[in-house]
Amino acid sequence: MNKSGNDEIIKLLNCPFEGYSCAGQMDEMNNNLAEAWEYFISKEYSHGFHVLKKAFDSTFILRKDPCKNCARLFRRVIIESCENVTLDLKKMTSGIIKRKKYISDYELAKKVLKDIQEKNV
Ligand SMILES: [Zn+2]
Repeated sequence: MNKSGNDEIIKLLNCPFEGYSCAGQMDEMNNNLAEAWEYFISKEYSHGFHVLKKAFDSTFILRKDPCKNCARLFRRVIIESCENVTLDLKKMTSGIIKRKKYISDYELAKKVLKDIQEKNV
């Protein structure tokens, strides 16, 4: 897991409108991502994915806004986070030391990832 993930979002964000309408959402986004990581670190995957999914859906508020590119960036960060966790779970549920208790989390991860990838158009 990439623990510096939360810091990178702020650096990545290069809003052409100086946060005109995305600043509030960026705060919320960072809070959501931080919350999700807390869950992932303590292996409460379903809670973590719930938070990520909620954050992802909230980015569509900015769809018709001058900050729609910022929203797109938020979604990319969420998708990348989701991909990382899914990959972690894949490793945890395969190979020599299979941890069966994470199989359902891995199934959920794949489902959430597919879901948000499809919505990201
Ligand atoms: Zn913006």
